[in-house]
Amino acid sequence: MSATDEVLRELAAVLPEGALVTDGDVLEAHRRDQAEWAASGRPLALVRATSTEDVRAVLRIASARRIPVVPRGAGSGLSGGANAVEGCLVLSLMRMNRVLEVDARGMLAVVQPGVLNAELKAAVAEKGLWYAPDPASWEFSSLGGNLATNAGGLCCVKYGVTGDAVLGLEVVLADGSVVRTGGRTVKNVAGYDLTRLFVGSEGTLGVITEATLKLRPRPPKATTLVATFPTLAGAGVAVTDIMARTRPSMLELMDRATCRAVEAYKPLGLDVDAAAFLLARSDAGGEQGVAEIEAMAAACEAAGATFVTHTGDEAEGELLLTARRLAYPALEKQGATLLDDVGVPLSRIPELLEAVERIAAERGVLVGTFGHAGDGNMHPTVVFDRSDAVARVKAQAAFDDILHAALELGGTITGEHGVGALKQPFMTSQLGEEGMRLHRSIKSALDPLGILNPGKVL
Ligand SMILES: Cc1cc2nc3c(=O)[nH]c(=O)nc-3n(C[C@H](O)[C@H](O)[C@H](O)COP(=O)(O)OP(=O)(O)OC[C@H]3O[C@@H](n4cnc5c(N)ncnc54)[C@H](O)[C@@H]3O)c2cc1C
Repeated sequence: MSATDEVLRELAAVLPEGALVTDGDVLEAHRRDQAEWAASGRPLALVRATSTEDVRAVLRIASARRIPVVPRGAGSGLSGGANAVEGCLVLSLMRMNRVLEVDARGMLAVVQPGVLNAELKAAVAEKGLWYAPDPASWEFSSLGGNLATNAGGLCCVKYGVTGDAVLGLEVVLADGSVVRTGGRTVKNVAGYDLTRLFVGSEGTLGVITEATLKLRPRPPKATTLVATFPTLAGAGVAVTDIMARTRPSMLELMDRATCRAVEAYKPLGLDVDAAAFLLARSDAGGEQGVAEIEAMAAACEAAGATFVTHTGDEAEGELLLTARRLAYPALEKQGATLLDDVGVPLSRIPELLEAVERIAAERGVLVGTFGHAGDGNMHPTVVFDRSDAVARVKAQAAFDDILHAALELGGTITGEHGVGALKQPFMTSQLGEEGMRLHRSIKSALDPLGILNPGKVL
């Protein structure tokens, strides 16, 4: 019997019926996430875990046999983080999909990792509560994936990212042992903050099998403001002013190329000649809400906006938001995409937007820029013809230039999508040799054999 057959037989003996999959088509479908540029290998098998015990069994066998394990949620990632490596076990957590508890008085929920973000929102809404983190992929991404990437989103500018909503985790380590971090209390400083260590670790330090998440009361109905600008830099100035004066519950930006892509994909009546489209919200309600919207409008006008309006009508507000949610799918319709996810300090946003325009012109490529402007986290997206070899080289060069521009502005190569395989080569540029050494020693303390999601992050 070959070594491969032995592993498969060992796994089949400990896993429930149907959990181990070797069908070629299914493996192909679980080989990569949404980052078409990042490399992926062929998995040995897919395991659809149904319990923490299944995850433990897989990791024990994988450790004993030195087989790489790639944890996987819904596969909506944008950095190749869930991409298979050659001969690995892809460990899907999507069948661990139960909301285990909603404690309305304690303002928390306990969930398994395969619950979709939208499913938790719906489950807690029944009790008048709200789970805040809202990546644009909220309807189809898993909470396990959100935790492992520390996903951001639209309302994070006011309510924080996924990591800000976590109280505790259950994690299976590479050797199959289980640790619980944090707990159910709001404050907890007993020991190192291991919860924060696992959040955003992209499946390289452990497999998240349960999470205790913070809930909030539902905020009041939001008022939505839109503004258009004749220059991108003007919109950038408006963003920094709005952040200095108010607490928006959303502050998103789309440039002309992105608005044109959205209009071509789904006509919504956007001004396709404006250089930038800003979308802001206040959910403060009452007099404070009115004051916030007035301050946002004044900041836009002072920064040269050519059109500013707002609506308190929820349906209209949602329609305006649709344009922003369609930004990436619409750009994808225009060709192959290389999506950046850079973040800069708020005061440097105008410079980042100018740098992206300059890079697009210098490299002769189309870049559509959109993103969470209020967090300084933008997604300049290089669009190119995948069948044109020269265009591919230019696209990669523009992608790299944008990463370096963000670093020069004191920023980061990734604000929310994670490093994955796509940005792994740029980690030393951001962290430096000392930072990389510390990261490697943390990795080897938790995963000494290096079986967990190798080739990602570090
Ligand atoms: C249209 C679109 C819009 C998006 N918008 C946003 C956005 O606004 N903000 C944002 O942050 N992201 C966004 N994303 C990216 C993506 O949806 C997020 O990164 C999301 O958190 C990934 O969740 P997933 O369940 O699909 O995880 P996957 O893609 O399956 O995995 C992501 C990473 O997490 C690891 N992982 C998954 N589950 C576990 C687990 N249980 N334990 C340990 N590691 C695990 C994987 O190994 C991988 O490294 C968007 C994606 C798309 C396609």
